[in-house]
Amino acid sequence: MPFTGQCHCGGVRYRITGEAIGVIVCHCRDCQQMHGNANAMLAAPKDSVLLDAAETLTWYESSPSAERGFCTRCGGRLFKRPRQGDRLLVSAGTIDPPTGMKTIRNVWVESKGDWYESPG
Ligand SMILES: [Zn+2]
Ligand SMILES: [Zn+2]
Repeated sequence: MPFTGQCHCGGVRYRITGEAIGVIVCHCRDCQQMHGNANAMLAAPKDSVLLDAAETLTWYESSPSAERGFCTRCGGRLFKRPRQGDRLLVSAGTIDPPTGMKTIRNVWVESKGDWYESPG
């Protein structure tokens, strides 16, 4: 803490200053279609994620309940922002390592791809 991270091209850079809760791996169809597979996301308080660079950041409404933040230059997907609640989900792979975080939960396992074993 604090975490820093960025998309592949660096057009979007951020800092997480608050208490991160842990990593959630989401196996839903939305994540599969946007990330190419399940997506690991770090849950953090919304107001603790500060943008240091955002000139290429665009928000896409991925469902009625959430928006996804991605980079229009490199295509990197960094954020999921649920409309409800006070958490922002940050794609764990975009965080500068080491994170020291653990996976706390797998969600939407019932819709996971059939090419890998269930994480349990
Ligand atoms: Zn980028
Ligand atoms: Zn998902």
